Amino acid sequence: MKVTEHISQAKDTLISFEILPPLKGKSIESIYDHLDPLMEFKPSFINVTYHRSEHMFKKRADGSFDKVEIRKRPGTVGICAAIMNHYQVDAVPHLICGGFSKEETENALIDLNFLGIDNVLVLRGDAPKNETFFEAHPNGHRYAIDLLHQVVQMNNGIYLEEDLMGGLKTKFCIGVAAYPEKHFEAPNMQTDMMYLQRKVEAGADYIVTQMFFDNKKYFDFVAKCREAGITIPIIPGLKPLTTKKQMTILPRTFHVDMPEDLYTEVNKCKTDKDVELVGTEWLIQQSKELKAAGSPVLHYYTLGKPHVVRKVVETIM
Ligand code: FAD
Repeated sequence: MKVTEHISQAKDTLISFEILPPLKGKSIESIYDHLDPLMEFKPSFINVTYHRSEHMFKKRADGSFDKVEIRKRPGTVGICAAIMNHYQVDAVPHLICGGFSKEETENALIDLNFLGIDNVLVLRGDAPKNETFFEAHPNGHRYAIDLLHQVVQMNNGIYLEEDLMGGLKTKFCIGVAAYPEKHFEAPNMQTDMMYLQRKVEAGADYIVTQMFFDNKKYFDFVAKCREAGITIPIIPGLKPLTTKKQMTILPRTFHVDMPEDLYTEVNKCKTDKDVELVGTEWLIQQSKELKAAGSPVLHYYTLGKPHVVRKVVETIM
């Protein structure tokens, strides 16, 4: 079922989770161990992130180095199929521009269609680690909107091969990302909003936000989107804070602000166990307020912390 169908049929705020593929060499059991404690909350869908390959340098016997490409977390499509099969829940694979040619994207979309997966979250992706700027694959897409166009074309039965006539019209429900505190590369919020609006006009069905720790940022962002004429659902992305280090790592990595009250409380903590308690309580309050305000879905980035997300969802349901 499509994410938008889940939302339109819901009587109350829905729950969804996001997971990462395990590191290469690990089994699917690690995913089930992660999700098992969360499945009793009947999530409407589960997102699985996509990770591009990274450049690594391997030392040769003569002391020189070889540049090699390593994908540390492969398997997004397979994991989505496994989750759907194991839990009978809808899975949403993330698709990224970075590192992909248009042909590879088309093949991935064909696989997804054969697997009965009719949701995708289309993203640009970031630059590989240790590189400053995002560079598109020579035969790939530069921005998420270009990838979105490709999915929309397939939904209209148009494939890359121009001679292919009467191609199957896929039915992908397409999500896109947005940033209540602005994407870090955007020169200002208005420009970022303009590009978001273009993604919506090009056929995005719903939006998922970057994490935020201050609900006001989300509420203001939703208001700005509505003013700009964006009417599709805007799903808030929520992450539990569990260590003191995250107070600096999260703003640096994800370009989000930490509210002063949260910072003050975390600073009083002696151990990360105490931080986890503060973070859990913060997320409970965030979730309650978003639910009360009628958010369509609460989307939790579970990233290795299913027990915290479990505590939060248990409390608010
Ligand atoms: P875009 O929409 O392409 O925007 C990127 C930047 O370019 C923005 O600053 C925008 O304002 C600007 N822009 C857009 N269109 C144009 C244009 N035509 N001309 C000029 N500028 C333009 N990354 C992963 O690698 N894997 C994942 O699984 C993943 N999941 C994510 C899930 C969510 C919910 C979110 C919020 C992010 C996720 N990311 C993931 C990170 C994401 O790939 C990065 O934030 C990336 O830098 C931007 O992706 P985007 O799809 O928002 O890009």
